[in-house]
Amino acid sequence: MTPTAPPSRAELEEFRRTARAWVAGHLPPRRERHDRSVAVFHDLPHEQERALIARVQGWTRTRYDAGYGALTWAVEDGGAGLSDLHEEVFAEVEREFETPGQHELTSVSTALVAPTVRLFGTPAQRELLVTPLLRGDELACQLFSEPSAGSDLAGLGTRAVREGDGWVVNGQKVWSSGAQFAGWGELICRTDPDAVKHRGLTAFLLPMDTPGVEVRPLRQMSGGTSFCEVFLDDVRIPDTLRLGEVGGGWGVTLATLGFERGHSGANADLGGGFADLLGDARALGRTDDPDVRRILGEVWVAERIAELSAQRDREARLAGTDVGAVGSLRKLVWAQRLALVSDAAAQVLGPRLVADAGDGTHRWVEHVLGAPGYRIAGGSDEVQRTIIAERLLGLPPEPRADRGVAWKDVPR
Ligand SMILES: Cc1cc2nc3c(=O)[nH]c(=O)nc-3n(C[C@H](O)[C@H](O)[C@H](O)COP(=O)(O)OP(=O)(O)OC[C@H]3O[C@@H](n4cnc5c(N)ncnc54)[C@H](O)[C@@H]3O)c2cc1C
Repeated sequence: MTPTAPPSRAELEEFRRTARAWVAGHLPPRRERHDRSVAVFHDLPHEQERALIARVQGWTRTRYDAGYGALTWAVEDGGAGLSDLHEEVFAEVEREFETPGQHELTSVSTALVAPTVRLFGTPAQRELLVTPLLRGDELACQLFSEPSAGSDLAGLGTRAVREGDGWVVNGQKVWSSGAQFAGWGELICRTDPDAVKHRGLTAFLLPMDTPGVEVRPLRQMSGGTSFCEVFLDDVRIPDTLRLGEVGGGWGVTLATLGFERGHSGANADLGGGFADLLGDARALGRTDDPDVRRILGEVWVAERIAELSAQRDREARLAGTDVGAVGSLRKLVWAQRLALVSDAAAQVLGPRLVADAGDGTHRWVEHVLGAPGYRIAGGSDEVQRTIIAERLLGLPPEPRADRGVAWKDVPR
């Protein structure tokens, strides 16, 4: 999707100026607020969350219609044919303004499911979904993880059995972000239990209002219900909604996960950061405390290092260098920074973190209780470390006991 020749610095800066001028015509400049939300996950009543999604969809549509929606896609696929560096610049420009907010379901739809359908969909599926997903007209969730298959996703057990001109699906998915608001799901099922685990999978596009689909939101410790359990009970899916080849579901899954890894860590706005912590430390008169000063310094350093590594990564790509599995590195470091900010909030606030003092500082509880989720989402810290060890450091691969064994014979 990315053009082979990287853009020049001058080209990128010109793009930044044009994009900034366009965004300024649509959104007010960002206000630095002392009481800014530092939540990592939404904790909103159902109707308010739906209204937030509608606002984000509206902004997605405006952006798409102006040519800023699918910057890295080829022009013939409805994109702008630009590089991922342009996309990063556009995200930086957006952060200078008050956007309508963000929601994981719109990101999953535009950044994960739309490009997967573009890659694997039939002409009819692409016609049905690609532009509607990119424009924010349709929303799709990721129906991958199961109670016994998360890190070991290829071991999943939701069964799809061929019947006539379609398939009958039975099983359970879990941690499906935004499933309660999604019109579609990208569903991965086991179609051949006799094959080794990666080979017996097939992907489908599931309309979420199909009879037999039951979505139950899960209450998280941070308060909200941003993800769900999805039960599939004799769900009938026509073969025309199969995504990719029968038995080709792992390739589809890897493509979606690849888009997810590229996307993770890009969300610099999630949760609180140094500026929020410093604001509260000053308001509470805590900036003389040596422990507070030490940890604020650590957060500042972590944020600067993240900026510098993003810059170094960008320079490498500008020079046309393949940066490899650097997405795993970025995601790991980003999750660690969220945890460090939690520690710093505890140090700055003390008992105010657990008891609402009525001065607005209690909002940090939404950061502290949400941050651990991103040590798991999109591949856990341990799994990222394995990827870094194997693909960046060239260390020997982990032993895998189920290699060459039919899925049905794998002990579980
Ligand atoms: C906020 C959030 C949103 C999510 N959204 C979605 C979604 O929209 N759709 C979806 O399908 N899923 C989603 N997930 C699920 C997510 O992909 C899984 O939770 C994740 O892959 C981990 O799987 P698991 O929960 O089954 O944990 P497990 O795989 O059971 O892991 C448990 C623990 O064991 C460790 N572990 C596992 N294997 C290894 C290994 N080989 N080496 C070392 N340690 C290991 C893990 O790191 C972890 O600490 C979401 C999760 C979160 C937290």
